[in-house]
Amino acid sequence: MIPFDESQLSQSQSLRLYTTLKAGGDAELFTIARTSEELASACAWAQARTIPHTILGWGSNMLPSDAGVPGLVVLNKAAELTISEGGEVEVDTGISFQDLFLQTVQAGLRGLEFAVGIPGTLGGALVSNAGAYRSNVSEFLTELEVVRDGVRAWVSPEVMQFSYRDSILRSANPPQMAVTRVRMKLPSGDWKAAYDEARDYQRQRIGKQPPSASAGSFFKNINDQALADSLPNLPERLRSAGVVPAGYLIENCGLKGFRHEGAMIGARHANFLLNVGNARASALRRLAEYASAQVKSQYGVGLEEEVLYLGDWSAWESTGRLT
Ligand SMILES: Cc1cc2nc3c(=O)[nH]c(=O)nc-3n(C[C@H](O)[C@H](O)[C@H](O)COP(=O)(O)OP(=O)(O)OC[C@H]3O[C@@H](n4cnc5c(N)ncnc54)[C@H](O)[C@@H]3O)c2cc1C
Repeated sequence: MIPFDESQLSQSQSLRLYTTLKAGGDAELFTIARTSEELASACAWAQARTIPHTILGWGSNMLPSDAGVPGLVVLNKAAELTISEGGEVEVDTGISFQDLFLQTVQAGLRGLEFAVGIPGTLGGALVSNAGAYRSNVSEFLTELEVVRDGVRAWVSPEVMQFSYRDSILRSANPPQMAVTRVRMKLPSGDWKAAYDEARDYQRQRIGKQPPSASAGSFFKNINDQALADSLPNLPERLRSAGVVPAGYLIENCGLKGFRHEGAMIGARHANFLLNVGNARASALRRLAEYASAQVKSQYGVGLEEEVLYLGDWSAWESTGRLT
């Protein structure tokens, strides 16, 4: 592994610019990795010093605290890709998920059509097992290169313990582990059909996704057949699948378009939390927790965040109220 160049570190870098919700405080230490070697060496450097590290992709699934993120934040811009015979793909985790779709489809491979319209890097997609239209990124992986305990090695994808929008890197005390490269195998197929499918997905998104700053769906949908059966207006396809969209519950609490200190519940899609007026991270989290508390009191179910609260939230008190 190449040694980490400490002259590339900066201090107190605002993360507001680097998150799609446009909120949050500063990274204590900050660096940019342009290759997987630089990413690996920065993370190994931090691990050797027990400095916590956070990898930043496009910041499209996170809300950093106003109090900032302690330790090292590494912006991952490593995006090298090789495609071999038989659909074997080896790629850096800083590649944009949509570029990965475009480059693989141009090579005659299919499978990643669902990635169109999901902003962010492949690394961020892995951490939340990102997906759409009944596909998830974890379906295609064969090996992951990770840096753990200062060691860079290829490991089985099982290390991530993937499930619906979840992995071990989202757990309450996640291991200090960076995913630097990925090997995946994709089936070959007709590029024209792949583009048509992707275009169709994109069209479906356009009507739903607001243009304002957001992190996509804020809460996970709920798998609960009894709840689905109890909701008279739930579309039949969701009822039969036992899936209750978080947005459906928030909307039925009358919260569409509801505002709090520059934060707003989406008027088109109630599971989108928007930053419409320089909201602080605390205002966004207050409104999210308020919506969650309203759903709990009306339907008796808790909502689980899809967006990750990062950094120092130690002084935070969850009240479920706006004040
Ligand atoms: C408009 C909009 C629509 C969206 N639609 C969808 C959707 O349809 N489906 C869906 O699943 N998501 C969706 N999202 C959420 C988000 O785009 C995805 O979760 C995306 O994959 C996150 O990637 P990122 O690079 O922005 O991750 P970030 O937000 O930068 O990071 C997320 C987490 O991953 C960690 N991380 C990032 N890279 C690495 C790495 N290499 N190694 C270890 N840890 C790492 C970070 O530290 C952080 O904890 C949407 C978001 C928006 C704004």
